[in-house]
Amino acid sequence: MSGARADALAADIDARLPQTQCTRCGYAGCAPYAAAIAAGEAGIDRCPPGGAATIAALAQLLGRTPLPLNPACGTEGPPRVAVIDEARCIGCAKCLAPCPVDAIVGAPKHLHAVLEERCTGCELCLPPCPVDCIEMQPAPPSHRNDPGLNRTRYAAHRARAARLAQERTQAIAAKKALAGRTAATR
Ligand code: SF4
Ligand code: SF4
Ligand code: SF4
Repeated sequence: MSGARADALAADIDARLPQTQCTRCGYAGCAPYAAAIAAGEAGIDRCPPGGAATIAALAQLLGRTPLPLNPACGTEGPPRVAVIDEARCIGCAKCLAPCPVDAIVGAPKHLHAVLEERCTGCELCLPPCPVDCIEMQPAPPSHRNDPGLNRTRYAAHRARAARLAQERTQAIAAKKALAGRTAATR
């Protein structure tokens, strides 16, 4: 398959994934998993958040037989959202950067909270929390996981992360240049 056709197929596959970026499929996010399926390197049975519905959609797109979810990737379950225990949160902000959809609000040394309507239940904020004060709870009945919104929010998250990284690099370069000039005048 040509590069352009593989890219188009990967985009069609990605459009059928939930866009939580949870990595449970074993890939770094939905788009890398879609690319691996398009390249014939991964099966269609690896997305627990999408579960049977996503497997059926992928099977239809690719003309394959639906499979059960691969248990090595996890299990399908009712939607859950992250909740921060306010009494235990120390405001370290370590949960902010890992959230792919910027569902956590708070500033360093201040209480953090999850915007329930944004949370996809990906659980990526749990491991970085040093005091284990984030837990997953059943999502309210009104909760909707909208892949289109997830995708838009993830794109904004990545753009912001790239901008911050660039600003950090520039600040370090400016500091080094200043140190060099200071040393040269001594
Ligand atoms: S939502 Fe599915 S495809 Fe996307 S990262 Fe999670 S397991 Fe992988
Ligand atoms: S708050 Fe936690 S569980 Fe919810 S989307 Fe962000 S990282 Fe995922
Ligand atoms: S990582 Fe845990 S303790 Fe730190 S701000 Fe987030 S919820 Fe609070």
